[in-house]
Amino acid sequence: MALRNIRKLGDDILRKKCRPVEEIDNRILTLLDDMAQTMYDANGVGLAAPQVGILKRIAVIDVGDGIIELINPEIISVSGSEIADEGCLSVPGKYGKVDRPTKVTVHATDRDGNQYEITGEGLLARALCHEIDHLDGTVFVDKVIEYTEVD
Ligand code: ZN
Repeated sequence: MALRNIRKLGDDILRKKCRPVEEIDNRILTLLDDMAQTMYDANGVGLAAPQVGILKRIAVIDVGDGIIELINPEIISVSGSEIADEGCLSVPGKYGKVDRPTKVTVHATDRDGNQYEITGEGLLARALCHEIDHLDGTVFVDKVIEYTEVD
């Protein structure tokens, strides 16, 4: 495994639409491992492939309950709405209030090629929306209602 360089806001790659993964080969498995290591090293709760310069529909999330690996994730249902603070490893030091669903169900593929569904509430719902946004070139700053002052 290896740490990957996290791209920062202003890098064009963060604004591109990612392509679906068609085959889960060793390069994809290595990417998943590297993304998890990079996320933990940066104390993040989620990381999307474009943040490490790869335009593929892959994200990893860990909100404290273990690693979730998402290949070709699609949001299939949302409910509720909650405004809360959000940040991003690509936008260091900036936090802002973003309106997200309180509950989200996502369909995705795991590293073994199995399709699965995951339903998240609260922080996990927020992380799922935030990471899937990255795959379409959307960064949370596009949705910030108000920035939060950090001491
Ligand atoms: Zn982010």
